[in-house]
Amino acid sequence: MQLLDGKLASQAIKDDLKIKVEELKKQGNKVPHLAAVLVGNNGASETYVASKVKSCEEIGFKSTLLHLENNVSEEELLEVIHKLNYDKDVDGILMQLPMPKHISEEKIINLIDPAKDVDGFHPVSVGKMVLGSETFISATPYGILLLLHHYNIKTKGKHAVVIGRSNIVGRPISILLSRNDDTGNCTVTLCHSHTKNLKEICLQADIIIAALGKPGFLKADMVKQDVVIIDVGITRVSDASKKSGYTLKGDVDFENVSSMCSYITPVPGGVGPMTIAALLMNTYKACCENHSPLSPEGGNKKDYGGDGELNIVH
Ligand code: NAD
Repeated sequence: MQLLDGKLASQAIKDDLKIKVEELKKQGNKVPHLAAVLVGNNGASETYVASKVKSCEEIGFKSTLLHLENNVSEEELLEVIHKLNYDKDVDGILMQLPMPKHISEEKIINLIDPAKDVDGFHPVSVGKMVLGSETFISATPYGILLLLHHYNIKTKGKHAVVIGRSNIVGRPISILLSRNDDTGNCTVTLCHSHTKNLKEICLQADIIIAALGKPGFLKADMVKQDVVIIDVGITRVSDASKKSGYTLKGDVDFENVSSMCSYITPVPGGVGPMTIAALLMNTYKACCENHSPLSPEGGNKKDYGGDGELNIVH
């Protein structure tokens, strides 16, 4: 069994991006700028956003964190996104999900300029991803592909079983693994809460992507020998022995399953860091594309005339 070390693989990507940022600076170009929008005080979301911002700093990206009150109105939030769309210095917009119930995530995501949609959630990005066109692939599925690539795990002809069909993980990774390209060409079975005979399906899998959010769900009697397992789940489980009061658990019963795998991701330290690395890759790509001299308006296509000022609410 070999661990798919997301910390190691993501560090390699970050080191590479750091060099690229230095090159941009040397050439007198702007550095990539990620704007992250966080609403409210969800502990997990705060942690995720903080590590995304920290990673930006580590590699020389500019980052702006807009931390809005939980009771921010939908109109105010739309206005924030609108300003970020028009701000020519901002390359990527990250809207940390979930949002409070009174805000329509769909409305907010649909307003993000697809050229700055580094989380790949906009319908334009999703549509292009489905068609196999060049676009931003959402960070977690993209991170999984990067991790498989880093460890040279071939997907062609393999049976991949994806457990979970969310719009941010399960559904996109099932599409990506089925596409006719180097990181795809799997036969994919997408399972969800209404799937019958899940155990029998999993037993046929060469690759399992577990993304359902149920700690320890995938047991040893559900997998075949030498399977590759990507554990996307991250659940905070109460643990009085920890200072934080919780421990992070994946969707796989790691203790009993890992010995059967050819490769498996740990939790934490597997998909999580890869998600951040993928987001950084997307932000770098957005910066290069939006400021390329070859872009339709000579590297200035994002300058809609906005003043670029942001009302930052803490
Ligand atoms: P979600 O809650 O939106 O969706 C869960 C999916 O699992 C649903 O499609 C549901 O049909 C399916 N499901 C639930 N119970 C099932 C069962 N018994 N059998 C088969 N399918 C079942 O989840 P999500 O947003 O995709 O997140 C899943 C997990 O991944 C969570 O733990 C989340 O925290 C984690 N996550 C991690 C990252 C990361 O960067 N590592 C990113 C996103 C999500």
